[in-house]
Amino acid sequence: MWRGGSINEIERIREVIRVERGTPQIGALAFGIVDRGTNIIEVRPTTLCPLSCIYCSVNAGPRSTNRWAEFIDDPETLLMALDEVVRFKGTRDIEVHIDGMGEPGVYPYLVDLIRGIKEIDGVSVVSMQTRLYMFTPEELRELARAGLDRINLSIDTLNPGLAKKISGAPWYDVNRVKELVMQALELGINVIASPVWLPGINDYDMVEIIKWAKETGGLGRGGELPPVLIQKYIPHKRGGRKVRVRVMTWREFGIELRSLRMNWALN
Ligand code: SF4
Repeated sequence: MWRGGSINEIERIREVIRVERGTPQIGALAFGIVDRGTNIIEVRPTTLCPLSCIYCSVNAGPRSTNRWAEFIDDPETLLMALDEVVRFKGTRDIEVHIDGMGEPGVYPYLVDLIRGIKEIDGVSVVSMQTRLYMFTPEELRELARAGLDRINLSIDTLNPGLAKKISGAPWYDVNRVKELVMQALELGINVIASPVWLPGINDYDMVEIIKWAKETGGLGRGGELPPVLIQKYIPHKRGGRKVRVRVMTWREFGIELRSLRMNWALN
């Protein structure tokens, strides 16, 4: 599932560490499990990412300026640790969210991971943050069969040229992503668009994404969840890639969101 280069190619740029079976899964931010004390548990299977988004807060991808290694976690170790964490939390309404300091869509054991998570007693939802472009329709079908319930889609514009610029990858094709979204919806996977708003760069794109999300009629599963969750751009204090824009205050961001919500009748 690696598009935009092979893992061997990234190995030419920097070391790729396969996390050994039995390695503790809590405490390392680059891989494993993050529990923030809610009913959502974060699972981080890999740091690999073929894109180099201009605002990436974790400075991922081939153009990373501060990474010396990438990690690929061991799926069985990850699942065993997750099972323990879910049991420890003692609740039956757990959402497991697959994301991390890279693109989980390129994790080589993704289907097995999703299937394994779904089998854990107490897990009700399996969701994943992804840019989606790396899958073929058949691979999407496998993810649906394995039990993926929702995709939180990272998509910052529908404009193909701007999408290439923001993603830092001339081969990134946002039109293909739109097609894959429709296929995911047909397969019963819910999709929520979650763009990062970069003021002065993709302002009108927020409206375009909302219009598109509403036109599909399926994002957010027809009103069950908001179809679009706009994220505020926050330059990372250390290490992340920074974009030269005037950063909105939380107050400004709140006002803009309220106006978008009113104009476009978002939930
Ligand atoms: S923002 Fe996400 S997709 Fe973009 S470079 Fe960073 S990890 Fe990769």
